[in-house]
Order: sequence, then structure tokens, then C-alpha cells
Amino acid sequence: QAKGQRQGGYARYHPRMHEQLAERVQLEADLHRAVEHQQLRVVYQPLVDMSTGGVTGVEALVRWHHPQRGVIAPVTFIPLAEATGLIDAIGAHVLREACQQVSTWRAEVPGAETMRLSVNLSAHQLDHPGLLADVVAVLDETGLPATSLVLEITESALIDQHDAALQTLHALRALGIRLAIDDFGTGYSSLSYLHRLPVDILKIDKSFVDRLSHTGDASLVDAILGMAATLGLTTVAEGIEHAHQRHALAAQGCATGQGYHFSPPVDASEVPDLITTALGAVTGDPAAPRSPV
Ligand code: C2E
Ligand code: MG
Ligand code: MG
Ligand code: MG
Repeated sequence: QAKGQRQGGYARYHPRMHEQLAERVQLEADLHRAVEHQQLRVVYQPLVDMSTGGVTGVEALVRWHHPQRGVIAPVTFIPLAEATGLIDAIGAHVLREACQQVSTWRAEVPGAETMRLSVNLSAHQLDHPGLLADVVAVLDETGLPATSLVLEITESALIDQHDAALQTLHALRALGIRLAIDDFGTGYSSLSYLHRLPVDILKIDKSFVDRLSHTGDASLVDAILGMAATLGLTTVAEGIEHAHQRHALAAQGCATGQGYHFSPPVDASEVPDLITTALGAVTGDPAAPRSPV
């Protein structure tokens, strides 16, 4: 009977597994083509001075414009890109395009002269021997000063790093590039480990910002801001959707924010208009002013 059940189990299970595998193989093949066929586009989300609403920089976020499936979010294809190694090519593409774009805005858009660019980096890219040379070449070709580039690495990715990857981080920082820990608070790094990392910025994960409500629990954000101050790091709060979150964070000493309250990620063509606008200045407590890209 056990044998029969097992066979029955296989018979029911197998087609699904096959379907999922086929789907993955297809998506992977498509992703190879996506890089060559320029289906990967970069959108930009402003980083905002909490006190003035002024844009101090943008974060580059990738989108995949799939010819059949439409726009695919990074949560769907970045893990696949990491597993296949395609992330190196994708990351290099995003870095080049975003550096070129921000360098152009700095030269041409009044008020954008000192704007910064943040680009996400996967752990896999830290192991790629060509990373450092690629970054140097892109800065050189695009004219973006190294000191205006921030590379973001998630806390969970940083925790598993070995010495070679840490050396790469030190080398990037020696160029003048600033390093940020993304999704901070979700990855269990100890204070002593953080202290040894060559980082400049903590990005407070959205989950902590979500906990701030009118009646709210500000203790975790308080603890993170205290930790950042102890380590001499600046902070950016992610995922601010409501004015009251912005005000609570600003009152606790977090100077920079990012989130739908200010602006969702937008197409490059929309960024110049945002530079001269005080974002989040609308009265009341609006969520997304536009639908996110
Ligand atoms: P992240 O770097 O932490 O980026 C912030 C994410 O939160 C973005 O999602 C952004 O659209 C979203 N977000 C910003 N403000 C709000 C808000 O107020 N409310 C809500 N609900 N969401 C908000 P996105 O663009 O889907 O990217 C997801 C993640 O994918 C990123 O998280 C990053 O880890 C990764 N990613 C995106 N682009 C790249 C890339 O070029 N390279 C690599 N390696 N990873 C990337
Ligand atoms: Mg990020
Ligand atoms: Mg984040
Ligand atoms: Mg994230």
C-alpha cells in the first residue's frame, strides 16, 4: 500500500514540478535575452531631506519589460539572476545606465548639481573579480564623482561575507564611494560586526517604519538610530508612506527619507521636475501620489 501511495504521489506531483522547472528554465532563457535586448530599464526613487522635502539623490531600481509578460518586478527575477550569475551583467548594466543618467542631470538640471546616486549591489557581484575595474571604468566614462555614488548591500548579504568580499568593499570605499547597509534591522548583525564593516549609511528597513503609527511603537527605530549614532553612521528611512512617519523619524534624528509619501520610483523623464519640488509637502496624509512604477 505504501508503495502504491508513493507512486500515486509521484503521479500527482510530477507534472507540477515539471511545469515549475520548465517555467524557470524559460524565464532564465528569457533573462539572458533581456540583457542583450535592452528589456531592463531603470526607474528612480528620490531620497529626500526630511526637513525641507528637497531631493538629495535617487536610488536606481531595475524593471524587466518582458515582451510577453509585461513589467516584471525585481523580487521575481533578481533571485534568478543571482542563482545563474546573470546578476553581474545586469548589475553592470544598471550601474552604467544610472551613472550616465545622474551625471547628465547634474550637468543639465538646475538644482541637481550635487545630487547623489544609490545603486543596489548583490553579494554575488562582490565575488565577481571584474567588479572593481567595472566601477572605476563607469565612473571614468560617465564623469560621476565617486563621492556621489552610494552602493547598497542588504544586511543579510553582508553577514555571509568572507575576507575577499570585505576587501572589495574596502577598495570601493577607498575610491570615495559610500556604502550603505540596505534593509537594516532584518539581518541580525551584531554591533561588533557592524563596527568592523566599511559602511557609512544605514537604511532602516520599511518594517520598522511601518511600526510607527500615531499611537505607535518608536522604540525599535529609536534603538537603530542610537546604534547608528554610536557607530558614526548616517541613516535613511525606507518605505515612508505617511506624513506622521516622516515627522516621527525626523524628530528622532533621521535626516533622510524615501517612500511613497515623497514619491514612488518614477521613469527617468519625470525626475527633473521632482528636483525643483518640495516632496511630501501636500497637506493631510496621502499615500502614493502616483501609482508606483
Ligand atoms: P530595496 O533596495 O530595499 O528598494 C526599496 C524597495 O521598496 C523598492 O522595491 C521600492 O520600489 C520599494 N518602496 C519604496 N518606497 C516604498 C513605500 O513607501 N512603500 C512600499 N510598499 N514600497 C516602497 P523594488 O523596486 O520592487 O525593489 C525590490 C528590491 O529588489 C530592492 O529593495 C533591491 O533589493 C532589489 N533590486 C532592485 N533593483 C536592483 C538592482 O538593480 N540590483 C540589485 N542587485 N537588486 C535590485
Ligand atoms: Mg536599496
Ligand atoms: Mg531596502
Ligand atoms: Mg528591500
